[in-house]
Order: sequence, then structure tokens, then C-alpha cells
Amino acid sequence: MGDTHSDTNERAASKRMGFVAPALLAGFLVLVVAVGVLCLVEYRSLPDNVGRVLTAEEQADVIAENSSLTDYVFLSPNADFPREEPITRITVHHMAGDLSLEELGNRFANRDRRASSHYAIDSAGNVALYVEEKNRAWTSSNRDNDERAVTIEVANDQVGGDWHVSDAAFDKLVELIVDICERNGITEFTYTGDDNGTLTTHNMFNDQTICPGPYLSGRLGELANAVNSRL
Ligand SMILES: [Zn+2]
Repeated sequence: MGDTHSDTNERAASKRMGFVAPALLAGFLVLVVAVGVLCLVEYRSLPDNVGRVLTAEEQADVIAENSSLTDYVFLSPNADFPREEPITRITVHHMAGDLSLEELGNRFANRDRRASSHYAIDSAGNVALYVEEKNRAWTSSNRDNDERAVTIEVANDQVGGDWHVSDAAFDKLVELIVDICERNGITEFTYTGDDNGTLTTHNMFNDQTICPGPYLSGRLGELANAVNSRL
């Protein structure tokens, strides 16, 4: 009797185990699938052309939708896809360094930095595209500005001091802004010293930065005039 009883208990126990083990396994599988789906949603929320080297054909397609002055493309994941406001401003920044376009692209590829710009110009006057114009780059410490702006980082050929910019970079900046204005229907490029103008700068929105530096800051009126004479 005792044996039979214990036998029954063992059977019941093994029956319970027979139920518990698959239940645990099923629970684990559900968890794995849920985590997988969450990762996929996060991954899918980014366009498939960001954060990787593009083929020549893909690069040509991207450049066709943006500035034809672009020499280098590496699209950053640090952006909103797409922007929510039409383009009515251009914001000029300095790099606070003399980075190559690849080096700046590597920084903007790092999602922890949460920073990007649409374009950059190196000291030789080459142009990079990191965020397509239709999307919002994270550049100016101000969402309202960045929703409306195309942002451009310009390299400094002298680090420190007045943060000088090369003539090649300045001339290309004029050319790039003219191109952006023409393609986006901006017919007058105004500099008012505040965010009422078409030309805005980082230090209008963040008093902790001197960006775009004394040298570029001293040439903003001249920049606006040079652009306007070509529009
Ligand atoms: Zn800046």
C-alpha cells in the first residue's frame, strides 16, 4: 500500500514536472521572441541606409535627393526620420577642430553621442552628407531650430584662437548654402543676429557654446551677402 501510495506520489510529481518543464520552456521562448521583436522594432525604426557604408549606386541615389556638391556620404542614425517642418533656415556651425569628413562621420555614427549635422565641409573644401535634408539632424541644441534648418559643420584650419576657417571651406560654404536655398525655395538669405533670420548659429540657442567661433561669427553678414548676390 505504502509502495503504491509513494508510487502514485511519484507519478503525480513527475506529471507536475511534465507540465512545469514545458511551461518554463514556453515562457522562456515567449521572452526570447518578445526581446527579439523589440530589437527588430528599434532596428526597423531607422532607415536601412544609415550607419553603414553605402554602395556607389546607393550613394548616387542619396546625393540625387540632396546637394550635388556632396563628395562623401555616411548617414548617421542620430536624426529624426523625417523632419516635421519645411526647411526655412540654415544653421552654420564650426567643428571646433580640423577633422576629416571620415572622422566626423565616425563620431556621428556613434549613437551614444546623439549628435549629427546634415553637412560638413573640411579645410580643403570637400563636402560630406551625414543626414539627408528631409530628416532632422541633431546639431543646434534646439529642436525647434533643427526641425526647420539644414545644418552645416565647417572645419577650423586653426584650432583655438579665433577658430579660423580656410578660404576653400568658406567659399564652399557659400556655394553649398546657395544650392540648399535654390532647391528648397529660399529666395532671400537673411542674417539678423537672431532666429528671425534665415541664417542661424548654434550660440543663438545655447549660451554655453561659442560655436561657430569668432572668425565665422565675424563673417556672417558677408556670408549672407555673398549668398544673396547669387540667389
Ligand atoms: Zn555648433
